[in-house]
Amino acid sequence: MNIHEYQAKSLLESCGVKIPYGICIEDNSTAAIDSVLKVFEKHEKVVVKAQIHAGGRGKGTFRENGQHGVQVVSLDRASDAIKAMFYNTLVTKQTGSEGKTVRKVYLTEAIAVKKEFYVSFLVDRTLQCPVLVASSKGGGEIEDVAKTNPKSIIKMPIDPLLGLRPFQARKIAYLFELDAEATKECVRILINLYEAFVQLDASLIEINPLVLTEDNHICALDAKVQLDDNALGRHPEYLALDDPYEKDPKEVEAAKANLNYVALQGNIACLVNGAGLAMATMDIIQYFGGTPANFLDVGGGAKQEQIEAAFRIILKDPHVKGIFINIFGGILKCDMLAQGIVNAAKSVKLTLPLVIRMKGTNVEAAKQILEASELPLIPIDDLAQAAKTIVNKVKGGAL
Ligand code: GDP
Ligand code: MN
Repeated sequence: MNIHEYQAKSLLESCGVKIPYGICIEDNSTAAIDSVLKVFEKHEKVVVKAQIHAGGRGKGTFRENGQHGVQVVSLDRASDAIKAMFYNTLVTKQTGSEGKTVRKVYLTEAIAVKKEFYVSFLVDRTLQCPVLVASSKGGGEIEDVAKTNPKSIIKMPIDPLLGLRPFQARKIAYLFELDAEATKECVRILINLYEAFVQLDASLIEINPLVLTEDNHICALDAKVQLDDNALGRHPEYLALDDPYEKDPKEVEAAKANLNYVALQGNIACLVNGAGLAMATMDIIQYFGGTPANFLDVGGGAKQEQIEAAFRIILKDPHVKGIFINIFGGILKCDMLAQGIVNAAKSVKLTLPLVIRMKGTNVEAAKQILEASELPLIPIDDLAQAAKTIVNKVKGGAL
């Protein structure tokens, strides 16, 4: 699960990571903004930061006024900068061209920066352990640095039993070319960041930039933290960090119905049971020249209401031009599924082509239900043939 920068920083601060002082503003009335600005009255400069679940805000611009999503401004200009962000659309390299509406603005003290670095902690699947990635060239996109200056990047595996060792953290401090005092502080912050990574059950902590300040301290100017939602049992408090505005409404509805749904860019909606089969189904659609509109795993024990909910959700996507249902009946019986599909298709007055491939428990009873429904559903047993058919239907071609 993704959280906002201000939330990420507050979690990191509680783990002993130094961050700039800041307040998140959620109300754009002049009174609310002025009361926050009053807290900063001793500051000459402040940083105004749009809060969206996407990076690249500093270079990104608002569609309505061309201003940037992160602005270092003098205090007397802060109010205008804040108002220029609220409820406007910020387009960055990571938001796509549609951009994201800003509903929260984070105001922080401005830090006098001497050097910018990059630090992240994540799990490397190939190495099967956490890794620390660091670069002496922070601030910009790490992907660009990897291309233009790969020598400035260190990737360091971390032994999960030993944690990040001080000598490893010192190696990073040398990469950053810090003096003795700043090295000590940097080592402590890196170790605290790793501790935070473990204790928070994070799947990613990315600090870009981690900075050396003019007065020789180390501070996290930006923070991206991804929390592992499988750990919600240990951290029920994370639910309060969720921002429903940042999610696709279809994904929110799917989560409520206990469905694993991810919206994609294509036009063939998929309804499958089992994550592996869902992946294979998307692959075979792609193989025959189609593009999947979603990943949808209804799970092994899906109930009829869930099938109907799944149907409603996939049809909310205006790009969908056809539906492909691929079910391996086991605990989820094919006849139950067929009844769910027929009910849903009737209630939404389905007009799109729908190809169904079913195998397994009660498949014969299921076929009878589909046939008796007199809906224009296309049952096909062979997976390749079924995939080819839906791709062709969507393209409007002959079979
Ligand atoms: P991002 O563009 O979404 O990654 O947002 P960041 O929080 O990283 O801010 C973008 C850039 O603004 C940073 O890389 C810094 O160069 C700059 N910036 C942010 N806060 C400060 C600050 O307090 N002082 C200075 N001098 N620069 C800042
Ligand atoms: Mn950043």
